[in-house]
Amino acid sequence: MEITSLQDKLGRPLRDLRISVTDRCNFRCSYCMPAEIFDKNFQFLPKDDVLTFEEITRVSNLFVRAAGIEKLRITGGEPLVRKDITDLIRMLSTVKGIKDIAMTTNGSLLAKHAKALKEAGLHRVTISLDCLDDERFRKINGRGVGVDQVFEGISAAEEAGLGVKINMVVQRGVNDHDIIPMARHFKDTGIILRFIEFMDVGNSNGWNLDDVISKKEIFERINKEMPIEPIKPNYEGEVATRFRFKDSDNEIGIISSVTDAFCSTCSRARLSADGKLVTCLFAAGGHDLRDLLRSGASDEKVIERMAEIWGNRHDRYSEERLQNTDKKQIRKIEMSQIGG
Ligand code: SAM
Ligand code: SF4
Ligand code: SF4
Repeated sequence: MEITSLQDKLGRPLRDLRISVTDRCNFRCSYCMPAEIFDKNFQFLPKDDVLTFEEITRVSNLFVRAAGIEKLRITGGEPLVRKDITDLIRMLSTVKGIKDIAMTTNGSLLAKHAKALKEAGLHRVTISLDCLDDERFRKINGRGVGVDQVFEGISAAEEAGLGVKINMVVQRGVNDHDIIPMARHFKDTGIILRFIEFMDVGNSNGWNLDDVISKKEIFERINKEMPIEPIKPNYEGEVATRFRFKDSDNEIGIISSVTDAFCSTCSRARLSADGKLVTCLFAAGGHDLRDLLRSGASDEKVIERMAEIWGNRHDRYSEERLQNTDKKQIRKIEMSQIGG
C-alpha cells in the first residue's frame, strides 16, 4: 500500500515528524524537567525500551511512504546526550524523500559535535537559549552551565555551515527582562531568534497563565525599542509568526501556542524515544509503534497503523484551552518525552 497524503479528522495533513531520541537531559530547566522531580531517583527509560537507530530509520522511511513527509526534527530530552547520535543522522540522511533534517538542542554539547553532524547530513539546528546573563542562565538550566558554552556551540554550528535559529522560552519574572537584550544581540548577528510563550506542557512545571508573556506583549515590548512589522509565513502551518526589523532585513519570530493557538494548521507528528506516536504536544500519551515494529510486522502493516492513528486524530488542545483554562488539570505527556 502506498499512500502519499494523509488527513486527520479535521482535514490536516501530516507533514513533519519530530523524533525524540532520548528522554534524558544534561539540563534541568524548571519549565521542562524541574530538578525536584527529575532527580536521582527518577526512572528514565531503560535502554531496551528506547528505539534503536535502525528502528528510527525504518519508521522515518515508512512515514515518507505513508504521508510523503519531507522534514525530520531530532529532539529529546537532549539529543546530543544520545550515544553516537551522528550515526543516526547519517542513516536518516539516506531516507529517500527526506529533504530537511533539523535538530533542537540546548547547545551545551554542540561545539564537540557540530562538524560531524553537518558532515553526516544534518541541515539545521535550533538552539535553546533563555537569556544572555550568565548567572541567570546557570540558574535556569539547573546545572550551572554558563552561556559561553552555548555560544561556543552556536559558533561551531555556524562554522560547520549548519542553519542556526535560537529559541527563548519567556517566563514572567524569570527572564522577561531579557527579551530586549536577546532581540538586540541576535538582530546584530543576523541569527533568527524566536520567543516561545511559556506552555502548560506536562504536569510538573507548575505552569500558571499569569507567568505567560503573550505574543502581543512581546511584540509591543520589542516594537517600542526596535520597530518591527509582521511578514508572511514561509509556508502554511509555520508555527512562528514572523516579524522583520524595519531598519534591516533581519527577522524574529514569536511562537504563541498559548494566546493565539495554531491547531487548525498543525501538521506535526511526534515519536517518543520509546516508540509512541503522539498526535499532540498536550496528549495524555501516545500510540505504541514499538511493539508492532518488534513483532515482525510488515512495512505495509506499520504504514496501515500510522494511517489509522493519523486518520483518527482530532486534537486541538491549545484552541480548547483558550475556551477552558481548567484544561491544565488533565494528565499530559512530559515535554522531555516528546521534545517540543
Ligand atoms: N533539549 C533540547 C532543547 O532544550 O532545545 C530539545 C528538547 S526541548 C523539550 C525542546 C524545546 O521545548 C526547547 O526549545 C525548550 O525551550 C522548549 N520547551 C520546553 N518546555 C517548555 C515549556 N514549558 N514551554 C515552552 N517551551 C518549552
Ligand atoms: Fe533539557 Fe531541553 Fe528540557 Fe531544558 S528544555 S530540560 S535542555 S530537554
Ligand atoms: Fe498541534 Fe496539539 Fe499544539 Fe494544537 S495543541 S498546535 S494540535 S500540538
